[in-house]
Amino acid sequence: MEGKCYQDLEKAVWDAGICAGCGACVAVCPADAIYFRTGADSAHPVHCGYCKQATDDVPCGACYEVCPRASPVPATEQPPGDCIDWLTARAAFEVPGRQSGGAVTAILHNALEEGLIDAVVTVAEDRWTHRPSSVVITETDALIHQAGSRYAWWVPLVAALKEAVMIRKHRRIAVVGVPCVAAALARMRRSEHPLLRPFTRSIRLVIGLFCTESFDFHRLMEEKLGREHRIEPWQIRRLDVKGKLIVGLTDGRAIEIPLTRLEECVRPGCHACTDLTAREADISAGGIGSKEGCTTLILRTELGKGFVDDAVRTGRLIVSPEVDKDAIERLAAQKRNRRS
Ligand SMILES: Cc1cc2nc3c(=O)[nH]c(=O)nc-3n(C[C@H](O)[C@H](O)[C@H](O)COP(=O)(O)OP(=O)(O)OC[C@H]3O[C@@H](n4cnc5c(N)ncnc54)[C@H](O)[C@@H]3O)c2cc1C
Ligand code: SF4
Ligand code: SF4
Ligand code: SF4
Repeated sequence: MEGKCYQDLEKAVWDAGICAGCGACVAVCPADAIYFRTGADSAHPVHCGYCKQATDDVPCGACYEVCPRASPVPATEQPPGDCIDWLTARAAFEVPGRQSGGAVTAILHNALEEGLIDAVVTVAEDRWTHRPSSVVITETDALIHQAGSRYAWWVPLVAALKEAVMIRKHRRIAVVGVPCVAAALARMRRSEHPLLRPFTRSIRLVIGLFCTESFDFHRLMEEKLGREHRIEPWQIRRLDVKGKLIVGLTDGRAIEIPLTRLEECVRPGCHACTDLTAREADISAGGIGSKEGCTTLILRTELGKGFVDDAVRTGRLIVSPEVDKDAIERLAAQKRNRRS
């Protein structure tokens, strides 16, 4: 992709309204020239004006190379994609904020404790404001504290990968991300671009979270919940999406909002998305297909299977084979078809 620059990305992705907000372009830009605005205008990144390629004619194009929307790879296999095994799983220890069975936290906790990885790049939140941020985590306590799903954001999700690779020099990194992030990371891992080599060498594991859609933070938290429903962020204990948005409050109440009433809050780039189950991850994780309190795991690569097997071996993860594959296949096909 040398020769391409942010202007090509702007034309093909930002202006076309299909940016996923994955933040991969932000993470890999060697000039730190791409960033997201906070607040209402965060459908895609913006550019500061200087670009190695466009300004100085120095070969780059890293941002274009990693973008999952610049030249999408068509899914050749049936949804939900390649699988070695399907499991229903839960953490064998207490994970108070877990979204499903805490299996993602258990796999990462085990990998850190056993020295299989040295850092996790994920999306954390401030428990009081629910504002999300892309972070690097190296301590298991922080990992447990940050369990649970962030459904609303404006941040470039995987931006902290730059800090992990280029500043902290971690070389055994696990990344957690929604399917668009997994797709960007797959491009990074496959790439032979010299500027992407540090990233290619440092990503050891990718855990993809199932994702139907995500919400713009400003529209959901501030406008819909704040102004319309009079709910302050600090009153929210947890959010869940199960055919509707369920807002669990700290006083024990739960408010349910049909997804049809949240259409205007959906991030615009999600309308162009066809991947429910993170087909390009090593392990995919979601709530669908397992009973309440458990996580469905799709093991897609031998590497992903190795991480799960190790967590089972050390007793940190409990697994069984009872997954409702039909439910997952049906919803994965629905997402692929409704966008195509
Ligand atoms: C936007 C979004 C939409 C989803 N939609 C669906 C759906 O439609 N159907 C379904 O079955 N499952 C969906 N999931 C996945 C589900 O909510 C759980 O994340 C999954 O079941 C794993 O649960 P767990 O208890 O094992 O994870 P936990 O043990 O609770 O760990 C979750 C991990 O994910 C990280 N994380 C949280 N939010 C994000 C984020 N936005 N980006 C990157 N990392 C993050 C946390 O830091 C933590 O490390 C969605 C998740 C997200 C973030
Ligand atoms: S310097 Fe490279 S990565 Fe950054 S905007 Fe220019 S082409 Fe893209
Ligand atoms: S989809 Fe990701 S890589 Fe592509 S422009 Fe948007 S944030 Fe950047
Ligand atoms: S639906 Fe989920 S995976 Fe697809 S673009 Fe939106 S956030 Fe990314």
